[in-house]
Amino acid sequence: MIPPSFEYHAPRSIGEALSLLASLGGDAKLLAGGHSLLPMMKLRFAQPEHLIDLARIPDLRGVREEGTSLLIGAMTTEAELLASPLVRNKVPLLAEGAASIADPQVRSRGTVGGDLSHGDPGNDHPALMIALDASFVLTGPKGQRTVKADGYFLGLYSTQLAPDEILTQIRIPVPAAGSGWSYQKLKRKTGDFATAATAVQLELKGANVAKVAIALTNVAPTALKARAAEAALTGKPINETSLGEAARLVMSICKPAADQRGDAEYKTAMCGEMTRRALLTAAARAKD
Ligand code: FAD
Repeated sequence: MIPPSFEYHAPRSIGEALSLLASLGGDAKLLAGGHSLLPMMKLRFAQPEHLIDLARIPDLRGVREEGTSLLIGAMTTEAELLASPLVRNKVPLLAEGAASIADPQVRSRGTVGGDLSHGDPGNDHPALMIALDASFVLTGPKGQRTVKADGYFLGLYSTQLAPDEILTQIRIPVPAAGSGWSYQKLKRKTGDFATAATAVQLELKGANVAKVAIALTNVAPTALKARAAEAALTGKPINETSLGEAARLVMSICKPAADQRGDAEYKTAMCGEMTRRALLTAAARAKD
């Protein structure tokens, strides 16, 4: 199927893109990699009359370190994240998660900003960003505001992004040296979305968990932060008892929709298992 016809705009700056968005209003959609938007247009779930392509705006690309944070332009592709030594060395959880997304074709066009703006609970970046305590810079006609990843995702295909705003930058505090990480994703085959997945970022003090962040993919209308499991693990060693309790607490907040990947009970159980594996792997990678 081909999408309905639309007018194409290619602004060269964030300011120009914002002006177009303001003047075209609800008839326009921003275009990033197009790997979520174009399938929706082909299915007639979205029928914008204008597409504003963000691809020619240099300020929206690239990864750099500033102070204790990594700053990532929203139009940075998955492939560029994977090729970035800064991402691999400073925030390996993000590299591991990006490598699990779709296939090389999708990763060469799909962008981190598009993945986060789409609000699809099957997308992997929302849980990764929650586990990393990331913030998002949203730029609109009145200037910039910064919002936390935890709280940004409001519901199915719904985020805090206003219709006249662009997600311009992602800010990730670099995790403490020696902290462990893991993204465990169950998928039926390469190129599929997660049946369930868990992101973990963890610090140990001696044998005990000093700090842990746990976030879940595709087991609710939005990515979830597993607060009760995080609290239960803090100060405890990673062993069968604490892993069992963390898995139980994680499963208690799962509300997955049944689909071709499985029923709610199966997905919930798989989320518990992905959480156990992610915690074990992160603890094994952590150095006190
Ligand atoms: P687009 O499709 O261009 O845009 C998506 C939405 O975000 C649109 O509404 C657009 O207007 C809006 N938007 C884009 N950029 C911005 C911005 N900077 N500010 C504000 N709004 C913006 N994703 C996963 O996470 N995991 C997977 O396993 C996975 N598997 C896939 C498998 C296939 C076969 C395909 C086709 C896609 C898959 N995806 C997966 C989705 C893919 O990662 C998309 O690239 C991503 O969801 C959207 O990014 P995009 O750059 O393509 O955005």
